[in-house]
Amino acid sequence: MKKNLTQQIFIGFMLGVLFGIVIGWLNIPIYFKEIIINLLEFGGNIFLKTIKMLVVPIVFFSLIKGVANLNNFNTLGRIGIKSVALYITTTFLAITSSLFFANLFQPGKNIDSNFETTNIKVSDPPSFFEILLNIIPNNPFESLVDGEMLQVIFFAILIGSALSISKRVETLKKFFNDFNDVVMKILSFVMIIAPLGIFCLIAKTFATQGLSSIIELLKYFILVITVLIFHAVLVYLTLIKFYGKLNLSNFFQGIKEALLFSFSTSSSSATIPITLQCMKNKFDIKENIASFTIPLGATINMDGTAIMQGIATVFIANLYGIDLFFSDYISIILTATLASIGTAGVPGVGIIMLGMVLNQVGLPLEGIAIVMGVDRFLDMLRTSINITGDAMVTIVINKSEKE
Ligand code: ASP
Repeated sequence: MKKNLTQQIFIGFMLGVLFGIVIGWLNIPIYFKEIIINLLEFGGNIFLKTIKMLVVPIVFFSLIKGVANLNNFNTLGRIGIKSVALYITTTFLAITSSLFFANLFQPGKNIDSNFETTNIKVSDPPSFFEILLNIIPNNPFESLVDGEMLQVIFFAILIGSALSISKRVETLKKFFNDFNDVVMKILSFVMIIAPLGIFCLIAKTFATQGLSSIIELLKYFILVITVLIFHAVLVYLTLIKFYGKLNLSNFFQGIKEALLFSFSTSSSSATIPITLQCMKNKFDIKENIASFTIPLGATINMDGTAIMQGIATVFIANLYGIDLFFSDYISIILTATLASIGTAGVPGVGIIMLGMVLNQVGLPLEGIAIVMGVDRFLDMLRTSINITGDAMVTIVINKSEKE
């Protein structure tokens, strides 16, 4: 990404925050406010939709390209096992530390819970075998159409593998390589409107959410933010610095567009194209590694979401005066880890998946309604943590492959 485009995105972001707060506070007729908010929503959606349009083609073609150009299959197996193991381990650490801190600070102990019942539907957490079976598409074209990321990854790896061992398919290989370049070119066109798109998305959020709902749930809110930062520093930055041997300011410099984008969109999945670009251009990560680990991470690695779910569960238990036992904590850890794998990388899904965790330990689902009030901002933050985790794992795997 060009340097001045990055600056423009940052300016768009800051202006969006300011404009949104001013619009939220301004004493203007309500219909006038609505017009402005609708316009912001429209502008933001144009940008978001064009980026989302590119997610499946980018993942599909760049993964085929990466795998097709592999000369050694053991490499692919090794990268796969290492990245899945790291993703699951970091999520496990995230949920465990969130429960530890939630127990230490006991958010919600002194709040009266007089809120209304909601009708949030939750399903049971998928079993381990269901998750595995679900990776195999019934019809790969349907998976592409529906954007079923794990199935798309699976199918792309199969095509890439077949291309890499087949002789006489050089033309087809070249087709996929070229198509990948074309999709990346389209991405660079779309990024031209990024500063304006991000301005609209951020301004709309700040204009409609306001800050008042946050005050009520301050302790929960601050605790989630603290643990998100704690996890990022203790797990991500330590691994990046000491294992990845990367200077931290270079790391942030390299992923800042992806951070801004994930914060503004609250969607790891929509951020895939930007994260991929940062990884390949700024850190010189091998194509076959980043094109595998980034979409996979955006789909199964949600440490920030798991942290929110751990703290929210304890918070809700406290609100209702329900004690949680050791076995409940084990249940929360397992369910939140599975829920994190199953959470789609789109806005607000984490809070719905919280229902699974609450169900599992018999807590009232109405609790979701309380935390939902402040979830918009937390979603923005945890999505940035989610994609930082994906970037960290990519850097660590790349380093381990070099060695
Ligand atoms: N918005 C999050 C993401 O895309 C998921 C969530 O926690 O709601 O990573």
